[in-house]
Order: sequence, then C-alpha cells, then structure tokens
Amino acid sequence: MSVTVFGSINIDVTAYAERIPAIGETLHGTAYKTGLGGKGANQAVAAARLGVPTAFVGRVGGDGFADEAARQIAGYGVDAGLLLRDRDAATGIAVIGVDAEGRNVIWVIAGANGRLDATDVERAQPQLARSKVLLLQIEVPLESSLAAAAVTRAAGGLVVLDPAPVPPSGVADQVYTAVDILTPNEVETGMLLGTTPRTADDALSSARALRARGARTAIVKMGALGAAYSGPEGEAFVPAFKVQAVDTVAAGDCFNGGLAAGLAQGLSLAEAMRMASATGALATTRQGSAEAAPTLAEVRKLLGGS
Ligand code: ADP
Repeated sequence: MSVTVFGSINIDVTAYAERIPAIGETLHGTAYKTGLGGKGANQAVAAARLGVPTAFVGRVGGDGFADEAARQIAGYGVDAGLLLRDRDAATGIAVIGVDAEGRNVIWVIAGANGRLDATDVERAQPQLARSKVLLLQIEVPLESSLAAAAVTRAAGGLVVLDPAPVPPSGVADQVYTAVDILTPNEVETGMLLGTTPRTADDALSSARALRARGARTAIVKMGALGAAYSGPEGEAFVPAFKVQAVDTVAAGDCFNGGLAAGLAQGLSLAEAMRMASATGALATTRQGSAEAAPTLAEVRKLLGGS
C-alpha cells in the first residue's frame, strides 16, 4: 500500500521582519528559521505522517543544505533511500521574507530539482512499479515525471499530478491523459482553463471541464471553501473543515499527501477526499511547510473517529 513521490525537495530559509525591505535597502529582521520544503517533500511528509509507507525520489545538491534536507525528510519517516546527491548542483532552496502582517515574498531556486531526468526514473523503477500511488508536481522536469508515471501506471498503480506551478507555456493535452487524478488549486485551474473558479459550483464545473480535456478524475482545491471532485466514481463538493488557520503554506501539498494516504489504504475517492480535506485543514493551523503536516491521530480526531 505504498506511496511514492517523484518531485522536489528544498530547504526553506525564512526571514521575519517588520516589513519587506525596499530595493537597495538593508533592514534588520527579527528572526529566521530553516525548514524542509518543496512540494514533493511536503507531500511525502504528509503521507508518511499518516502512517503509510512513503518513499521519495529526487535530488539534493553537493552543498551543506543537502545533509539538512536528507536528515529532515528521513526524520519525518519518509524512506529517502532514493534521494540522490547531485554534486554538480546546489540543493533547491526557497528564500522567504515575511512581514509583521504575515505577507511574504518568495524566491525559489530549483537547483538539483531541475536536473531530474531519465536516470532518476530508471534507478527508481522497482519502487515506482510497486507503488499503489505516485504523487507528482511540476517543480521538477515534467518530462521526467511523466516517464515515472508511465512506470507506475503500467504496473497498475494510480498517478496523481498536482499541476503546480503551471508552466508559462501551459500544460499539453497529453499530460491530462498521462495521469489518473489532476489536482489544481483555484489559481492553477484558472491558468489551465482560462476562467478562475470562485464558488463551489464553479469548482465543480471546472472539475468537469478538466475531465473534458482528458483528465480521468479532477479535483479542484478552493482553499478555505473546500474542494470539488469529478470522476468515474462520481462528483461532489467537499466543504472545508472549520479550523483556526494561521498559515496556509503547504495546505495543498498536505491535502495531496492525505489523498494519497487514503487511496493507498484502499479508501474510495469520496472517503479519501475527506481525509485529504482534514489533512489540508490541519496544515493551516500551524506555521511552516513540511513541518505543518498533521499526524494520523490529529486527522482521525478531526474526522470524528471515522
Ligand atoms: P494550495 O495550497 O495548493 O493553494 P488550497 O489553499 O486550495 O491549496 O488548499 C488545499 C485544501 O486544503 C483545500 O481544498 C481545503 O480542503 C484545505 N484548506 C485550505 N485552506 C483551508 C482553511 N483556511 N481552512 C480549512 N481548510 C483549508
């Protein structure tokens, strides 16, 4: 019942200050912290924390952040045996500035993440073939991710693609049919379809429109509103759980981790959507990226013991 993530891993370096400095200005901040990030790593940590065996396939660089990233992802219970140290590259990082009101500016530098290629798919072949669910995003080369998808699908596994970030050139038609479940948020849905969903009804229509493009199942994530799904198993809008949100970073990643954990355990899509929603909601109740992923006990409690 294992989950595999083929994707990005970053170290997030976050600086906190009263305000975001102007161009050319040097400003004293109040604190900084480093943490594990990258959509791939976040999704892997979220699935692993829900008790599902989860492996990560990706690359870190040859710098000091590489050890930190490897130590952290393994510390969260993810099997990092297929994390390659690419000595010709730097570990991916996100440099984040946060002001007193919680607003942020972010630079993401892909580094080693941008170098995933056919050799990564090859070395991960047995793992990809025995995975019940493969999670993909677009922070690593899409061509490599689709090659990984083909391995998992040929062996009967399920592939979930989070089309994030949407490439400036958009997403080719064959991408929709190369995966089983597509999970854009509202902004990404707008970029894919040309209209941004604003309501639950819009989200459901968007999910149908994504299916018309070729997606077998589409899930449209709508932040604090909830998420819509449409697929061969049916369709519905799943309202968000009511929580005290303090930081929505990685909510979508935790949602996908929860979805994968549910599906890998054999839950129906409707049940896995509830698990995903609870995981995403709980992630908003704490700061940070991977570190915001909730435990199985927390998710069970929010689901009401179901
Ligand atoms: P992303 O992080 O990719 O932008 P969203 O913000 O849409 O994704 O969040 C993904 C899912 O997490 C939502 O569909 C919802 O189920 C849950 N979620 C996000 N924000 C909240 C919130 N403020 N309260 C409760 N649940 C939330």
